[in-house]
Amino acid sequence: MNKNYDAIIIGGGAAGMMCAWQAGLRGKRVLVLERSKKIGRKILMSGGGRCNFTNLYVEPHHFICANPHFVKSALSQYTAWDFIASVVEHNIAYHERDHGQLFCDNKAKDIVGMLVKECEAVSVDVVFSCAVNKITCNRLEAAESKKHTEQIDKRFTITTDKGAFESASLVVATGGLSIPHMDPTPFGYEVARQFGLNVLPVRASLVPYTFSGALKEMFARLSGNAVLAEIRAGAQSFKEALLFTHRGLSGPVVLQISNYWQQSDAITIDLLPDSNVSHLLSDAKQAQPKALARTILAKALPKNVVLELEQLWWSERRAQVLADWPQSAIESVGAQFNNWEIVPAGTEGYRTAEVTLGGVDTDELSSKTMQSKKQPGLYFIGEVVDVTGHLGGFNFQWAWSSAYACAQSLP
Ligand SMILES: Cc1cc2nc3c(=O)[nH]c(=O)nc-3n(C[C@H](O)[C@H](O)[C@H](O)COP(=O)(O)OP(=O)(O)OC[C@H]3O[C@@H](n4cnc5c(N)ncnc54)[C@H](O)[C@@H]3O)c2cc1C
Repeated sequence: MNKNYDAIIIGGGAAGMMCAWQAGLRGKRVLVLERSKKIGRKILMSGGGRCNFTNLYVEPHHFICANPHFVKSALSQYTAWDFIASVVEHNIAYHERDHGQLFCDNKAKDIVGMLVKECEAVSVDVVFSCAVNKITCNRLEAAESKKHTEQIDKRFTITTDKGAFESASLVVATGGLSIPHMDPTPFGYEVARQFGLNVLPVRASLVPYTFSGALKEMFARLSGNAVLAEIRAGAQSFKEALLFTHRGLSGPVVLQISNYWQQSDAITIDLLPDSNVSHLLSDAKQAQPKALARTILAKALPKNVVLELEQLWWSERRAQVLADWPQSAIESVGAQFNNWEIVPAGTEGYRTAEVTLGGVDTDELSSKTMQSKKQPGLYFIGEVVDVTGHLGGFNFQWAWSSAYACAQSLP
């Protein structure tokens, strides 16, 4: 195997393989170093095995980043439509789900197959089960003086358990820390620190909430039930399905809001976002004065959910017909349904999180190329960077777009 490359990419996931493909298309000699035995393992498990590979409505506001403008350049250089064009070219059947999410009809391995095929076509080298031991950068002056091309050609030396490799550019695409059984590493953050780049604090995100005490027991009894709900945390809110689980709350609406939630913050849940529950009960008091509150509410929510909430919020009136409810009681129960404030004990953490929030500070990188401002030739792409997408295909789109932007600028 060649030991000298234009670019070495550490990490053969979504971003790494896309970058290798696009750089190969530009005639660059590329090597991918992957610590596991397979490439694209997260792609294979994504989207319930069908990979939600992008979204029809990709906009910068779907991404969380300390600098909200950072994503704009990469997302415009390589759009969802560019990725869709490749999917179509490879005859990968796909379909649209709610909110413009695009999934494979068959298996996520179709997407991995496409990346592998394209990388092979442009002669990308891949070393599997490869542990990187050391990275050194043998030049600093050479970058400034473009005449020293030989030195520039050998800018980085990557020492691994499979030998040493040299390259002009080094791309770090090591992803985040979620799913411990995949043995994720903080290696990308360590490389950033080695070269003097700031790394923002990381935490598990797109992740279910856990609860303790009576709420945990109640959610466990309701495990498996789902309702449409709106959840707010600070100024952000999402309206999607909420799922009760043995540990607490999950479902798309919970994963979405977890991106904006800090430990010990309260969240506010609207269990009937399309109704004002005080008005609903007041109207019912007029129209069906002999009805119980639970009978009215069970028309809008699963009966066992209503029974649990009855126990929590109006157990002393459970046998009282609506005609006997004072307006203040109607308003108080209505407010509970539409503005239920609770504090999660925590999240399920990296064990089930889809992403890692935080990472390499975007202030350290060019938004056009993903290159370090401090260390010429060093690039960070994909999830290792402090960019996190909403649920819905946005995280893969960031992987594709940041990888493409980097590949275009590799010398
Ligand atoms: C269960 C699950 C479902 C998901 N579903 C979706 C979805 O449907 N849609 C969506 O948009 N996003 C989804 N995501 C998020 C998405 O998978 C990631 O955002 C995306 O894979 C990030 O791409 P990446 O290339 O940056 O990192 P990864 O795809 O994680 O790739 C990183 C690669 O680097 C390798 N690596 C790590 N450390 C080293 C090292 N020291 N040396 C060499 N190699 C190393 C890893 O083995 C891995 O192959 C999901 C995530 C999970 C966990």
